[in-house]
Amino acid sequence: MKRGLKSSASEIRREILLLARLNGGRLTDEAITGRFGKIDSVASVLADLLKKGIAKLDVQENRRVYLFDDLQAGLLLNICPNCGNYYPVRDEIENCPVCGSDVKMHRSALAKAGKSKTIDGGHDTGVS
Ligand SMILES: [Zn+2]
Repeated sequence: MKRGLKSSASEIRREILLLARLNGGRLTDEAITGRFGKIDSVASVLADLLKKGIAKLDVQENRRVYLFDDLQAGLLLNICPNCGNYYPVRDEIENCPVCGSDVKMHRSALAKAGKSKTIDGGHDTGVS
């Protein structure tokens, strides 16, 4: 049985978001290609992220750069304990948008665990 495209797309998406997070919310085309190679599913995941407004495409010094506002602002992303999909904490959701599992408990557990950690860096001033 082949579940091919869908599961690999969500894995790629997860990797991209993780990579973006490690890079302070900014990913160059090169970084993405270096990580995944030039494959169609990466392009379609990126297109999807752009379409949903999760990422923005910018051109800096003739390079294509993907900007992830949520990650730049230092907002935490939650990870669904079941499917591993990322979603912004500010989305007050109770169920994973992907697999529908209950993420509320997971979130409060995370909040407790994250208390000792301080989020440094700029506060986003106002515009939301
Ligand atoms: Zn899920």
